[in-house]
Amino acid sequence: MSDCLFCRIARKEIPSKTVFEDADCVAFEDINPQAPHHVLVVPRAHYETLDDVPASETAMFGRMVMVATRIARERGLGESGYRLVLNCRESAGQSVFHIHLHLLGGRSFGWPPG
Ligand code: 5GP
Ligand code: ZN
Repeated sequence: MSDCLFCRIARKEIPSKTVFEDADCVAFEDINPQAPHHVLVVPRAHYETLDDVPASETAMFGRMVMVATRIARERGLGESGYRLVLNCRESAGQSVFHIHLHLLGGRSFGWPPG
């Protein structure tokens, strides 16, 4: 989508601190980090919410999770632990309507989440 924030970041029309990119997805630092490590992994394909993703994109999800876990390992978060979050729509707190996986690490997290 031409005017979507994360599509524009993925196309490098808006600057971000890129951590990783390949043909399918881009990972970059969150602009308002909620933990010492807060990276967003977004697919290049535009889907507004988790609910809009067809079953045919199952591999894309696997890829997003693998990218996030690889970044976590590279940052030494594997042993202490980290959290992956994917918010779907308003009640979950989704504010950018292009799906994205949050990688959060470097501190302890409460459960249940707020
Ligand atoms: P959501 O609330 O939709 O699950 O998460 C959206 C995330 O995108 C938030 O953590 C927010 O800080 C981040 N974000 C919003 N706008 C920008 C931006 O322009 N650049 C970057 N790098 N992150 C952004
Ligand atoms: Zn988009």
